[in-house]
Amino acid sequence: MKLSRRTFLKSSGVATAGLAVATAVPEKFLLWAEEAGLIKATYVPTFCEICFWKCGAIAKVLNGRVVKLDGNPVHGNSRGKLCARGNGGIGLLYDKDRLKSPLINVGKRGEGKYRKASWDEALGLVAEKMKGIKQQHGPEAMALFTHGAPTDHFLPLLSAYGTQNVGMPSFAQCRGPRDVGYELTFGEGPGSPERVDMINSKVIVLIGSHLGENMHNSQVQDFTEGLGRGAKLIVVDPRFSIAAGKAQQWLPIRPASDLALLLAWINIIITEGMYDRPYLDQFAEGFSDLAQAVSHCTPQWAEQETDIPAAQIMETARMMGQNAPAVTIHPGRHATWYGDDVQRSRALAILTALLGSWGRSGGLFMATKGSLTKGESKPFPEPGKEPLNTGGYPFAGAEGVTQAIREATISGAPYPIKGWFVSGTNLLKALPDQKRTLEAINKLDLLVVVDVMPMDTAMMADVILPECSYLERYDALAIGKGKSLSVSLRQPVIKPLYESQPGWWIAKELANRLDLADYFPWTTYEEKIKAQCVTAGISYDDLKKLGSLTIPDTAAPYITPENQPVFKTASGKIELSSKELKEKGFDPVPVYVRHPQPPEGFFRLTYGRSAVHTFSRTTNNPALNELYKENEVWINAKKAQALGLKNGEYVLLINQDGAKSNRIRVKATQRIREDMVYMVHGWGSTPKELSRSSLKGADDQGLVTRYAVDPIAGSTGMRVNFVKLQKEA
Ligand code: SF4
Repeated sequence: MKLSRRTFLKSSGVATAGLAVATAVPEKFLLWAEEAGLIKATYVPTFCEICFWKCGAIAKVLNGRVVKLDGNPVHGNSRGKLCARGNGGIGLLYDKDRLKSPLINVGKRGEGKYRKASWDEALGLVAEKMKGIKQQHGPEAMALFTHGAPTDHFLPLLSAYGTQNVGMPSFAQCRGPRDVGYELTFGEGPGSPERVDMINSKVIVLIGSHLGENMHNSQVQDFTEGLGRGAKLIVVDPRFSIAAGKAQQWLPIRPASDLALLLAWINIIITEGMYDRPYLDQFAEGFSDLAQAVSHCTPQWAEQETDIPAAQIMETARMMGQNAPAVTIHPGRHATWYGDDVQRSRALAILTALLGSWGRSGGLFMATKGSLTKGESKPFPEPGKEPLNTGGYPFAGAEGVTQAIREATISGAPYPIKGWFVSGTNLLKALPDQKRTLEAINKLDLLVVVDVMPMDTAMMADVILPECSYLERYDALAIGKGKSLSVSLRQPVIKPLYESQPGWWIAKELANRLDLADYFPWTTYEEKIKAQCVTAGISYDDLKKLGSLTIPDTAAPYITPENQPVFKTASGKIELSSKELKEKGFDPVPVYVRHPQPPEGFFRLTYGRSAVHTFSRTTNNPALNELYKENEVWINAKKAQALGLKNGEYVLLINQDGAKSNRIRVKATQRIREDMVYMVHGWGSTPKELSRSSLKGADDQGLVTRYAVDPIAGSTGMRVNFVKLQKEA
């Protein structure tokens, strides 16, 4: 039967194009209608938020329904491609389990009893409670925990309210010690995305970095391109990762001994004269202190500590030395391992410096010197009390030490913390020692959570504020400082579904109710962004059309006579021996200290990423859950056999303190050392509202009852727990 456009529109209801109609029309039908020429697609550029990489995406919309996401070809982080998770953005948008309206708790905390509320009521309640806390205890008694795009809305809100007690797990539970280690050495961190020039490398070194499983889009593209162009790969990992499968040299190191290997490599580079003398003469200081401090770190010594044969340690050091400076020593990302993580990161940075790879092609390139002025905002009030979020750690930055806020919440000292505002982070899955997090939550007068999904922490809240997904909202402009300067726009692809609202709107509405409207002096977020574009001298119209603009920058990303590096360290040079650390009473050159190994019958618990998930955030995503439904515990095949365990059977994990996991399937494999087990992080969420992922897989964080705090940055080393496996009864 030939269907005329008119008949089709009438019978399908597509012509009315209301949102309810659009979501009710099956996608297959829309695609057919498009093919038949009856409806036309629109394409809207934005950028992805399924992880923090911020890849440019282009959404294809048919009759108000998003049917496809593609990588934006002009965007540097995606280059026309999205990873599997990025494609899962549609799954998030249409997940039936999303938070749909504001909710107010009517039961005990954590009982999961909520009633629907209007935005006016929910925001009114939050504002009233926040005002009460301020009146009774001062504004510092409210703390903000945040991650990702929501930070751009709620950090100004809480700063205007008067608190600087801010904790971001991205620092103390992730890349904090790495950034501090590089800052102490080079005066700046390695960037995010890391400025690794793998595309031009002759040798790439990954230490505990499972790129490919850790799916950072453009970085994985550069990695594979670099390998394709002939780069040699050295992978240090106690697990035979996907990346290890591509390596010329796999070093299955004894967990917790990485610093011994790094110091031995540094020693070999020095004693064999493979360091870049002119580069160090010009840019670095502290060489002789370094050489002396590592002189005992021979390959034979390191073999005892690491289980890596001395000959392989020599061979890999020479591979680096002979190919310098085109050597990428990857700085890693999740660096919170054993509590001496700043010093391990310092060792990575020092090795990079010795090879002359900082600021050189094939090493770590320099960030563009360009910048964008985004406009001024009203200054925030000075804190009345000293913020608690550095926890007293000398090099903890403004991103804060989350567990320090948690501990102050429990103890009430040096002053009480009575309210937590949580956005974009699932604290129960991010912080070590869940019991302590629950204890702190139970002491609060107010817990507000802004989220898209009913995650574990959200379902503990007094008030849940449903944020719409990134495909339905504006967020702050993303400024990229890679080889060139770029600016990208997140804009709504469709209107918010259900009663969800964008973060900027929630923050502004709360500001109105907290008498802080002056800090949000615009009506819509688009208005704010347009004004920023005018100030920065870029065309908003072009940005809206293309999604991303690259601002031409004449400075090369590498060191040249015209483009000299600036090191913002105490000495103004690369510090091989750190003046700042020495002044504060720490070792100026990293010193290896042996860490405890698993007791008899136990395995070290390690964890990592899946290429198709971003922590707990995506475990319920219909598209991504289909690809990977629950995590597994990797155990060496020989050990599994000795324990009578078979592939695929369920076990429970019990740690040294008796903490027990949910059931998890065994993956018996030769791809892992015998003294450890491994699992993908983020599983075992408990809310029953997560219909696909509730109680699926095991929660590694529930087993992290112990952590080793880095005395320099206050970050929490979490690979210090040991587990045994118990067959399911
Ligand atoms: S790496 Fe993947 S999930 Fe992350 S922003 Fe890019 S496309 Fe999205």
